Amino acid sequence: RTERSLNFIEQIVDEDIAAGKNGGRVHTRFPPEPNGYLHIGHAKSICLNFGLADEYGGQTNLRFDDTNPVTEDTEYVDSIKNDVRWLGFDWENEFYASDYFEQIYQFAETLIQKGLAYVDDSTAEEISAQKGTPTEPGRLNQYRDRSVAENLDLFRRMRAGDYPDSAKVLRAKVDMASPNMQLRDPIIYRIKHAHHHRTGDAWCIYPMYDFAHGQSDAIEHITHSLCTLEFEVHRPLYEWFIQQLELFPSRQIEFARLNLTYTVMSKRKLKQLVEEKHVSGWDDPRMPTIAGIRRRGYTPASIREFCDRIGIAKRDNLIDVGLLEFCIREELNRTAPRLMAVLDEKPLKLVITNYDLGREEIMHIENNPEDPSAGVRDVPFSREVYIERDDFMENPPKKFFRLFPGGMVRLKGAYIIKCEEVVKDNAGEIIELRCTYIPESRSGSDTSGINVKGTIHWVSVPHAVEAEVRLYDRLFSVENPAADERDFKELINPNSLETVRAFVEPALVAATRSGSLTNVQFMRKGYFILDADSTDALPVFNRTATLKDGWAK
Ligand code: ATP
Ligand code: MG
Ligand code: MG
Repeated sequence: RTERSLNFIEQIVDEDIAAGKNGGRVHTRFPPEPNGYLHIGHAKSICLNFGLADEYGGQTNLRFDDTNPVTEDTEYVDSIKNDVRWLGFDWENEFYASDYFEQIYQFAETLIQKGLAYVDDSTAEEISAQKGTPTEPGRLNQYRDRSVAENLDLFRRMRAGDYPDSAKVLRAKVDMASPNMQLRDPIIYRIKHAHHHRTGDAWCIYPMYDFAHGQSDAIEHITHSLCTLEFEVHRPLYEWFIQQLELFPSRQIEFARLNLTYTVMSKRKLKQLVEEKHVSGWDDPRMPTIAGIRRRGYTPASIREFCDRIGIAKRDNLIDVGLLEFCIREELNRTAPRLMAVLDEKPLKLVITNYDLGREEIMHIENNPEDPSAGVRDVPFSREVYIERDDFMENPPKKFFRLFPGGMVRLKGAYIIKCEEVVKDNAGEIIELRCTYIPESRSGSDTSGINVKGTIHWVSVPHAVEAEVRLYDRLFSVENPAADERDFKELINPNSLETVRAFVEPALVAATRSGSLTNVQFMRKGYFILDADSTDALPVFNRTATLKDGWAK
């Protein structure tokens, strides 16, 4: 058990155990609806459910909440399983709410038999008009007085397919005057002639969420059913069904959903971004989906760390995406090897005039100063190297410690050089710097006695490998797009992706291609990961995060 103080859910579980409930057993479930890809909000729920079970020596079921035939698909089922495993969790049982359709149907008949459910022929508009408002009670209609026999007959005919979509619904007879609108005779079954991804055409009536979720929990003997705050008002109904049907008393506990700045988290909106091609797919590295975040270069450990840090709250809040970035930076700073890449389509060429033409040296550069065990690698050096254009200034301000005419810098892991001459083309653009190097200044055996303030990265021209680099930024330009009056698609950041050409050192490409390297740091530039779009001719790197939090606050 960790040393941090217990969150409110752990306190509840402790109380339940102390009270001898469920024989001390803790059994949770993660219940995604397979109608989209999982996002970082789901990761919070996954870490919570699986983490709680782990902590108490319990179990977690993966249950697909697949009671809505039209929006669900096996593509989503597969991606969900893949993402949960990738996050580092494994489930006790893989269940489908649709496997309980017969049982849930029988529960509905039981309610009818007890006089606690009735078939209503009203239209959706009539039903909602009759519901009343929170301050005035709803109206009772004539269908509410149907006999048990008539209700049973009608409900069986609904199942048999005797009626078209929406012709009738089954409603629980609870309390049309309840201040809790959820209890005003909620619809529990509807007619929908639709093909289901698992049950095919076996059913043309489907249970509503409230009549499927709690029952599924009870069937699986789930002890603690954790869900987001918006279900708090559903809890009395959840408990009413369990009581009336005399089922296993699963306990529903609500927690605050995760909202993250500069993104949207609703599957409906994410789906729209994909379908309308605002992004390249569910796994676009700008998406808050697990698949997108993974492709962006996040590790499972960094996401678990993030979920741990945000904790569990009882009130909704908006988490700064900077915290997510902090978690990956902190990890990659320790683990990612640092290599050199010049991110510029037209980098500045530096010619070292006193270094022999055709001469080549191998420099040994440490992979990660934070981790001596990461070793050193070979980096070829020659007479011509590329540097970043902004590491040079013709007219530098004071305290510019990089290169300028007559100035000196160290080329990382190699020599100190001095800028002797600036070469321009006819248009006045700088095309080359002619420099000299100090032979005694080689890194590791520097006897030059010269002290320079700046060190810059470089790539040897004849050894440089061309690459494509995708610089990602936040997907939306406002902090909370979901709370904005404008349509969320108008708020998309037009500069969320900048694609640039780069020259990278050869070791980077060789190692990433062989699969021995995944996450890397481009020295002074940020954290990157090789993308699956890479070809032998052109490796592609995605920027995971910049080195520092570049966000003005
Ligand atoms: P959406 O509104 O995006 O469709 P959902 O809640 O309908 O999300 P489900 O597939 O039903 O998505 O969610 C599976 C589980 O993940 C549920 O228990 C749900 O409470 C939880 N979950 C979904 N979104 C979040 C979130 N942003 N933060 C925490 N938990 C979440
Ligand atoms: Mg849901
Ligand atoms: Mg949903």
